[in-house]
Amino acid sequence: MSDAVQYYDYLHERKMGDWEYMFWHLTETCPYCGTPLNCIKSVPYGYDGEYGKELASNEQTLAKLIAEICNTCQWWRVVELISDDFWKSGHSFGHYTHAVLKTTTIDSASIPLDALEDYLKNNPDKVYNIHYKKMEELACSIIREQYMCDVQLCGRSHDGGIDLLMIVGEEITPIQVKRRMSPSRREGVSVVREMMGVMLRDGYRNAKVITTAEKFTYDAINDVSKLLASGRADTFELIDFGMFMGLLKSRYGNQKKSYLDAIPLLLGGFGTI
Ligand SMILES: [Zn+2]
Repeated sequence: MSDAVQYYDYLHERKMGDWEYMFWHLTETCPYCGTPLNCIKSVPYGYDGEYGKELASNEQTLAKLIAEICNTCQWWRVVELISDDFWKSGHSFGHYTHAVLKTTTIDSASIPLDALEDYLKNNPDKVYNIHYKKMEELACSIIREQYMCDVQLCGRSHDGGIDLLMIVGEEITPIQVKRRMSPSRREGVSVVREMMGVMLRDGYRNAKVITTAEKFTYDAINDVSKLLASGRADTFELIDFGMFMGLLKSRYGNQKKSYLDAIPLLLGGFGTI
């Protein structure tokens, strides 16, 4: 039985129009399945936020946040209402955010990359269970960001033992990705020699091999050292499990904001569902 992974799909966030602001609460059922919405959070609070400057100093701005979820299909919405006094000044507006909470499994070939990354961040050992295609996509995305370059996914139809092509200007670096299913397995010399064959055949001076195995064998490392010493290649990078996870984790710092960050008051709130 594979681990279940939950993620938010179809996230929409927008400002509400005046009429919607006044009547949003009239829809109290899920738009997908009609189930009455379950209110999981309702936070009235005083607010002197970014729009406060437009108001006179003696005016009190109030905001309210309501979070509701459909217990049948996991659709949810968060409504933030900000108002000083709509009828007096018209300074009222709202933010409307909604999405669907979906569940998939870690070995799914269709799990969104964002959800997979989030999950692996907290469960690195689960990389052994992910779909090999997802491992290639993940490696592609990580290398692209790490080197700020174009990386192409070659796919299974590409012959010649290359999974990815990293492109920096005129220079092309072939990358082989191995999603091993066990941490104890060491990545042997064969994958390294296969890559050397590709380099010789296609005239590449650089290469990378990425594996989920914990380490490369001595023979694999030794062959790479000899190749580099001979001057017939410029770089040949061996990226093992630890290094791969390091790259994966290092990118979270500048990751685009997560769904939960979009609704800070709910941090912890969804954990109690
Ligand atoms: Zn529903």
